[in-house]
Amino acid sequence: MDRGKKPSVLVTGGAGYIGAHTAKALHERGFRPVVYDNLNSGFREAVRWGPFVHGDIRDPVALGEAIEAHGVKSVIHFAGLIEVGRSVTHPDLFWDVNVSGTTTLLTVLRERAVGRLVFSSSAAVYGQGARGALETIAETAEKAPASPYGDTKLAAEWLIQAQCRAYGLSAVALRYFNAAAADPSGVIGEAHEPETHLIPLAIAAAIGDGRPLTVFGRDFETPDGTCLRDYIHVSDLAAAHVAALEVDLAAGAFEPVNVGTGEGRSVSEVVEAVGRAVGRPVPHSVGARRAGDPPSLVADPRRAQDLLGWSAQRSALEDIVADALRWERNPAYGSGLRGSAGRRKSKLTL
Ligand code: UDP
Repeated sequence: MDRGKKPSVLVTGGAGYIGAHTAKALHERGFRPVVYDNLNSGFREAVRWGPFVHGDIRDPVALGEAIEAHGVKSVIHFAGLIEVGRSVTHPDLFWDVNVSGTTTLLTVLRERAVGRLVFSSSAAVYGQGARGALETIAETAEKAPASPYGDTKLAAEWLIQAQCRAYGLSAVALRYFNAAAADPSGVIGEAHEPETHLIPLAIAAAIGDGRPLTVFGRDFETPDGTCLRDYIHVSDLAAAHVAALEVDLAAGAFEPVNVGTGEGRSVSEVVEAVGRAVGRPVPHSVGARRAGDPPSLVADPRRAQDLLGWSAQRSALEDIVADALRWERNPAYGSGLRGSAGRRKSKLTL
């Protein structure tokens, strides 16, 4: 690669959790990440490896200008809403940002002759998981999203696939399983408002920075009765995006690819691993099942290996918990989101 001319990659939503980690991975691989974000849920402090453009994914003018100004030839598209529960109460908002936003982006990509797109999709497109409770899920599994959030990810995939067929865009849709942890450097990490994810909540409970954890159900048909998930280190996830950007694809190709480890870990195993890492048990109680939680969501990751040459390298549960704990003890930003005193008011407007 010509060092003088780093190829610019537009990273929509690049100030968010997975976007920021991907921007770092792009930089380390010799690309120039141009972060495009409205900072609604992202953090300016997380933009460290290239230029920043403040803009909304539904704004074709700002998108077009960013692509033109930075000579962008490929795009990684993260910008979107992610809270499953909120998608149930505000489906219109999710369709507007996640689907209409993707439509707007696709129109601009076609106008500007951008040839490669990597899309941030989700295992939520599969809904209730595999037919057998303990099977892994391949890309060909039935798609039956269990939430409006999952619907919007699947609809966006359809749009992208159709656009690939229509004019020769090539795209990879990465269907993430459970993203977790933080970059080992400690400069970027996970900061959500509200935080709903198991690992940060378990850590917060154990270090006395949050409420005791509620385990959502222990009566599932799994080995220990708690849900199985496929936890993937965010740095591994970031590497998958770079691989998807670089892979040789024919014009018009659309490739959905799972990003997971292939190993299921139970909620109880996670709670125990966090207790071991912190050196004190996670205060917790067992509550009712959370609506819509399937018993098991574990990737069949073979397509990622075959197509992208990618496999998880840092996703042992102990590594994930250690890196998540380092960040939770000393977050570089977003700490004001935690605890009642510093809790930011939930924003409805975008
Ligand atoms: N979970 C839990 N208590 C919590 C949050 C999550 O028991 O406070 C469980 C949840 O039911 C699921 C697993 O932890 O089985 C992972 O949930 P998370 O929200 O982290 O990710 P999801 O699988 O929903 O994408």
